Amino acid sequence: MPHTLDPLPYAYNALEPYIDEQTMRLHHDKHHQTYVDKLNAALENAPEFAAKSLDDLLRDLTAVPESVRTAVRNHGGGHTNHSIFWKNMRPGGGGDPGGSLADALQKTFGDLAKFREEMTKAATGVFGSGWAWLVAEERTLRVVPRPNQDSPLMDGQTPLLGLDVWEHAYYLKYQNKRPEYIAAWWNVVNWDDVAERFAAHS
Ligand code: MN
Repeated sequence: MPHTLDPLPYAYNALEPYIDEQTMRLHHDKHHQTYVDKLNAALENAPEFAAKSLDDLLRDLTAVPESVRTAVRNHGGGHTNHSIFWKNMRPGGGGDPGGSLADALQKTFGDLAKFREEMTKAATGVFGSGWAWLVAEERTLRVVPRPNQDSPLMDGQTPLLGLDVWEHAYYLKYQNKRPEYIAAWWNVVNWDDVAERFAAHS
């Protein structure tokens, strides 16, 4: 069964004023759709992998035929990264996480402000297109930058919270001011979703 694009879990304008409607429409309906379409096109040339879950494909890219490996990496990575990204955000988000996720963040980073600082630094520092991720790696939390659409799954990590810093994520509203986009993005973080991913990993 081909991979499909889920609708956004909220209205296109729901993340205003932090992320504008036009950006959300283009980002979800055009950019994300293209990753899905190109992933499906690649898998047509590797039908024995078409039924596998995307997570499994990305966790073991070396098993994927070389002829489609780069396409699966880029477009499959793009598909899974964005699927997480939409759920990682919600209107009325932001604030602080609670529960065991907050405990784990404090244990790893000292306090929540320090975690935010590290994630912001990683996102700001991505050269060109990429992401910053909060990931779980066995019992540890880490903040990691990733180039292009590389998924943390490729490194055996569980993605918990991703921040897309491709220009298509912010250029219409923020132009070249990536730090302003990052500062605004913290206001839409859906900590409940991050906590669910953390609980599923634990
Ligand atoms: Mn994107």
